[in-house]
Amino acid sequence: MRTYSIHNFGCRATQADGSALASALEARGLTPESDAPDLVILNTCTVTAAADADVHKMVHRVRRENPAGRILVTGCYAQRAPEELAKLAGVDWVVGNSHKTQIPEIVLAPTYHGQITVGEVSAPQDFFSLPILDPSGERSRPNLKIQDGCNNRCSFCIIPSVRGRSRSAQPEWVIEQVSRLSRDYREVVLTGINLGRWGRDLATGRQFARLLRDILARTSISRLRLSSIEPMDFSDDLLALMAESPRIARHVHAPLQSGSDTVLRRMYRKYRPRHYEDRIRRAHALMPDAAIGADVMVGFPGETEAEFEESRQFIASLPFTYLHVFTYSERPGTRAADSAAPVPMEVRKERNRILRELSAAKNLAFRQSLVGKTLSVVTLAGDKALSSNYVPVKLGHHRPANQLVDIRVDALADPGVREAVLLPVLA
Ligand code: SF4
Repeated sequence: MRTYSIHNFGCRATQADGSALASALEARGLTPESDAPDLVILNTCTVTAAADADVHKMVHRVRRENPAGRILVTGCYAQRAPEELAKLAGVDWVVGNSHKTQIPEIVLAPTYHGQITVGEVSAPQDFFSLPILDPSGERSRPNLKIQDGCNNRCSFCIIPSVRGRSRSAQPEWVIEQVSRLSRDYREVVLTGINLGRWGRDLATGRQFARLLRDILARTSISRLRLSSIEPMDFSDDLLALMAESPRIARHVHAPLQSGSDTVLRRMYRKYRPRHYEDRIRRAHALMPDAAIGADVMVGFPGETEAEFEESRQFIASLPFTYLHVFTYSERPGTRAADSAAPVPMEVRKERNRILRELSAAKNLAFRQSLVGKTLSVVTLAGDKALSSNYVPVKLGHHRPANQLVDIRVDALADPGVREAVLLPVLA
């Protein structure tokens, strides 16, 4: 076995695992190859039924296009339902998140030790991560996973049972990685499964805000962007640090899931609507120009018309600039999946449409408010850029990727806004 390819499905955490896995395989002499590699690794997601179906499709496609290649399925789907995957024709290995770090040894072993290698994911595990250098093909904004797992038990969520308990990268490793990335990149995106919990499991019990202060003090990174953080982890200290630091992106993403108190209770979310509102209004007061986004779910079991309307009104009342709208998907092994009151799929779809329209209206109003203003952006490929407050920008002219520049907005664009084109002054 000399060549390999890795197909990552799902979230940034899975992609970061994929980067670490690629590096581990190359350290054992394997080389990346997209055309008929000896080994095909599917690094899977299982957060929705659709994610599972994508993996089945990929196994069949690899079987058809590369019959000689050996298939290893790992990731969250492998951890949740190894037997299901082992039954698929052509799957040689199924390796859970529990044993992901041992994949090089498993595939390079002189003898075959069986199809399934899956163990307890809650057992203490090494932190497995490497930067994702080019997540969106724009040669910029690498993702760095610094936290994994989750100790919460939201009733709809499969993640804790497939990724284990919350665990953090060591602060020195984080600072070293950001320092290394800052040589080539202007912006680094810090990510995790429950990012705001970073440090709580470490002997020092250090807080996330303290890590950010250390990164800002000890590296020359121009911009840090924080990916999703649970609402109650947006402490006053963290929000104050974000507001006072031009090197932290003006971007708050706090999963809400529902604006209905009774639905939040059935979801086992750790806050009431008023607590959530308090955090969002504080963020907005400290950073009026910031992007404020939320994950919201529709069609949670038992969600009545009244509960959905309560949620819609709550969302409409808050200064969001965008929403990620998800339709509830039953996950085997979660508490909510056993509920006796599923919401019909066409109702879920309709509620999804309503909240997406609300998101589009809020985003339009936010972008309109930026016309005439100056934004700090990081340049991406070609005439594209992304602002500190998470708005795509169409640049007035092409610039090299990975520059941090100020631009003045003169109009809307689709998506995002447009940079004013400065016409040369004719003598
Ligand atoms: S906080 Fe809740 S939704 Fe998020 S990963 Fe943990 S259990 Fe899942």
